[in-house]
Amino acid sequence: MRERVVVAGAGIIGSVIVRQILAERPGAEIIAIDRDLVGSGASRRSAGLHFPVGRTERVRAMTEMSERYYQALAARDPSLPIYPVAMHAVAFGTAAEAAWRNFIKAGPIETSPACRRAAMGQPVGASVWSVPGCHYTDVATLAGRLVRDFRSMISLLEGVAVASIQEETGAAVLVLSTGETLRADRLILAPGPRVNAPAWRALVAPLGIRIKKIIALHLDAPADKADAAVVFPEEDAFLLPLQYRGHWLFSYTCLDWDVDPDAPQPGVNRQNLDEAQKVLRRYAPELVEKLRSGRVFCDAYSPSREPIVATVGASGRIIFAGAANGSGYRLAPAIAAETLRLLDN
Ligand SMILES: Cc1cc2nc3c(=O)[nH]c(=O)nc-3n(C[C@H](O)[C@H](O)[C@H](O)COP(=O)(O)OP(=O)(O)OC[C@H]3O[C@@H](n4cnc5c(N)ncnc54)[C@H](O)[C@@H]3O)c2cc1C
Repeated sequence: MRERVVVAGAGIIGSVIVRQILAERPGAEIIAIDRDLVGSGASRRSAGLHFPVGRTERVRAMTEMSERYYQALAARDPSLPIYPVAMHAVAFGTAAEAAWRNFIKAGPIETSPACRRAAMGQPVGASVWSVPGCHYTDVATLAGRLVRDFRSMISLLEGVAVASIQEETGAAVLVLSTGETLRADRLILAPGPRVNAPAWRALVAPLGIRIKKIIALHLDAPADKADAAVVFPEEDAFLLPLQYRGHWLFSYTCLDWDVDPDAPQPGVNRQNLDEAQKVLRRYAPELVEKLRSGRVFCDAYSPSREPIVATVGASGRIIFAGAANGSGYRLAPAIAAETLRLLDN
């Protein structure tokens, strides 16, 4: 009998996990289930920025592994929506040195000179350093492209929700929104911010995951291939020239916690704009009035602020993979690699 592995959630993390199971466990029967279409959750709203930063050894190693994975994907198929982008980091005063140390790769710290052409987000007198190895992605399209390539090798159930899970002797038993019952030898939960779905809320609760709003505002200025992204590590914010959509993004850290991903989304509000404008004013006051719209959703955050890949429940058959703290795109390959290692245990 073939081992049956069910992956619940086909965002970027679930999609990369399925791809890796196919590569490393060729005998397995794989069923991927998503209550929506592939790449519809946080992945659809993602800024999709990868840059080489990490505050802990584990996240630094995950970042490097994931960067190599995406580079290999892009090299194998240049038509994938993975776009290299130049990047600078900008900080003021003594904060610059501490921030610089969190970068895995970084040029020397320089002072943005008065004679410099007023580059986007690089005020005169600020500390500036280059950050090599960055790219950004249309994350939902990438997930869709990955799934397209292996679709014929798995069973993919889109528009089907996992309604309940029972741990029984010899299997995790799922009941789907269609009424179908599925027995899984191993079950991987990759639900993005929907960690409180009734099917797995009790299984995932001990992990202490919370949901935080994420906002990336759209900045109406033409984005050219030659434009560089700018990251502001003091505020955990960045400006990104989203060339494939023809505008810039400004992502800032919104501190609205314990939001419900399934509540009606009221959109960008005045408070969001005020918070974002306050951060951007410090670096590029001339751009502040260009922030008028954006994308609002949320992501799962772990207590340690490192991603979680862990067995949940009593049977040892169910793995949770996610809680990537707003970095689920850039760390997805490493999360998948850790999931595969747990599957082998
Ligand atoms: C505005 C914004 C900007 C971001 N910018 C960046 C960035 O620049 N870089 C970065 O690395 N990360 C970024 N992130 C975070 C990143 O997008 C997420 O961490 C990542 O997409 C999470 O992927 P996932 O596959 O875990 O979740 P999701 O993409 O949410 O996928 C989970 C899937 O599970 C499915 N699902 C849920 N419940 C059920 C159920 N009961 N049954 C079946 N299926 C179910 C959902 O439909 C969904 O498709 C950003 C996020 C947002 C919102």
